[in-house]
Amino acid sequence: MSSIIQLLPDHVANQIAAGEVVQRPASVVKELLENAVDAKATDIKLIIKDAGKALVQVIDNGLGMSVTDARLCFERHATSKIRLAEDLFSLGTKGFRGEALASIAAIAHVEMKTKQDQEEFGTQIIIEGSKFVSQEVAVLPKGTSFAVKNLFFNIPARRNFLKSDTVEYRHIIDEFQRVALAHANIHFTFYHNGSEMFNLPASSLRQRIVNVFSGKMNEKLVPVQEETDIITIQGFVSKAEFAKKSRGEQFFFVNDRFIKSGYLHHAVMAAYDGILKDGAQPSYFLYLTVPPNTIDINIHPTKTEIKFDDEHALYAILRASIKHSLGQFNVAPVLDFDRDSNLDTPYHYKDLEGETPTIQVDRSFNPFSDDKVNKHYSSHKKTEPTANWESLYVGLKQETEFIASNHEISFESEEVTGSLFNEEEVEQTVNNAYQIHKKYIVSPIKSGMVIVDQQRAHQRVLYEQFLTNMTVHQASSQQLLFPLDLFFSSVEMELIEELKLSLMNTGFVFEETSSDHVVISGIPVNVTESEVSMVLEQLLSDLQDGIPESSFSQNDTIAKSMAKSLAVKTGTSLTVKEQENLVNGLFACKDPNVSPFQKPTFITMRVEDIDKKFAL
Ligand code: ADP
Ligand code: MG
Repeated sequence: MSSIIQLLPDHVANQIAAGEVVQRPASVVKELLENAVDAKATDIKLIIKDAGKALVQVIDNGLGMSVTDARLCFERHATSKIRLAEDLFSLGTKGFRGEALASIAAIAHVEMKTKQDQEEFGTQIIIEGSKFVSQEVAVLPKGTSFAVKNLFFNIPARRNFLKSDTVEYRHIIDEFQRVALAHANIHFTFYHNGSEMFNLPASSLRQRIVNVFSGKMNEKLVPVQEETDIITIQGFVSKAEFAKKSRGEQFFFVNDRFIKSGYLHHAVMAAYDGILKDGAQPSYFLYLTVPPNTIDINIHPTKTEIKFDDEHALYAILRASIKHSLGQFNVAPVLDFDRDSNLDTPYHYKDLEGETPTIQVDRSFNPFSDDKVNKHYSSHKKTEPTANWESLYVGLKQETEFIASNHEISFESEEVTGSLFNEEEVEQTVNNAYQIHKKYIVSPIKSGMVIVDQQRAHQRVLYEQFLTNMTVHQASSQQLLFPLDLFFSSVEMELIEELKLSLMNTGFVFEETSSDHVVISGIPVNVTESEVSMVLEQLLSDLQDGIPESSFSQNDTIAKSMAKSLAVKTGTSLTVKEQENLVNGLFACKDPNVSPFQKPTFITMRVEDIDKKFAL
């Protein structure tokens, strides 16, 4: 039998390869911009006509190419960026496959001009559908210009497959922004159909982000910075209050390369836990630097996906450093705590194994026993700090003298409680808190004073307690002497049945459930017997829109609802001790700034502001 296998001619192979590399005009934009960056250009111009369908041109002032290279660069697997397979593990360039130019030249009309700095003349080459049309010596400026015209001219099916100009233009902008954000030190300009769309001078990272997305971006950003052995993280995230409905301004760069990662996105979202409205999306611009040999960028033809050696560690570090930034920049500057170097890297990843934070519940704490809040706040035991809380308050050590400078106060770092006031050691000669209108608690801080909304603050404290108990499954419950028998409609009973597990995690013990009633023999420590039915009623009414799907949002809903039911209300008078405990409890929270319902929990007033009022 005769043999039938043939080697495909190069131009056919290139056309096939082009299908992988070039899906649309934006792919050409990406490849040409990356080549210009790899050529160490400091000034890059992108010129587009008709959303790239008529022209994509990139002009750079980079290294340029020799006559031989100018010809060779259009060959498949022709690259100056790697020589050996091993080089893949120490990549410092965007490109390395050596197939972009071969692919582009196979499906478009390409005109290239290039000149190296030290040469007198440059080279101009025209190539159409993989065929060399001309090569000439030319007088040119230093650098390289690629003009790619009539994309897919020889593959009508692909050309017809392109979307509207608006859609294709959007894709081009995306690619342009990704490269521009990854290289703030390069001057980029972008023209579409003759109009200048972007002009981004070399600048700082923050300025680049602002230049790309408009001046309003500046106030939204909070810096993120973390350095460990396995990763350096730099960049910015948006404050929670600026989160948007839609995803959009979310960027990860790994070693200056834009990448997509659902996993790392999840880590970012986890850092915003509890402070974002449902479905809200923060903006982020995160630049991760890792040793090149710990990643594999070769798993996707267009290289936006990446494999990390140690994803779990990256997840934890990313999440913690963003949480830290959000906490630090929202809370700390307001309260004026001097920055302590301990604050910068409170997460000792280098020597720490991952560890689940534990929280000790104060069993005696029950603001709702017979005489309401009055007696239990005072018996409030010191809670054990978690790693997170500690990190926010290590800086307090030096600040304690503002509370009562006459008293010897020693804060051992093992027992930092996050307290503004130290219960045992501050004698009550000076009141550190004062309640006004049974609504607000006023308390002195170093820079002036803080005014706390008692109801919202208590909601926050309870919410975090419940949520922590539920997630670490450590809730304790109080056994009832006589089990409670509560009646509900069958619809309500269905809801309770569905939430049973989460409710048990808060401390409820269900002895029996049927279609119309439930027998409860244990209840969470911070709920009294008489409050149980109120708490459950409130929860059922909060669940009218249905039970959230994920167990996290279930827990969240329950914790919010119970915090709402149980928090001290406006109109309740509190003893000084209770006030202090509430303020301490609030500032020991992970997110003291807002109630679980995103309402501010406290405001501060600086001494200067008060001075100003008196100066009138
Ligand atoms: P890769 O970027 O993967 O190496 P390309 O097909 O994109 O493959 O480019 C092939 C080669 O052409 C590059 O390795 C580089 O040496 C050269 N080259 C491409 N664009 C430029 C440019 N703008 N300036 C200088 N050299 C370039
Ligand atoms: Mg390339």
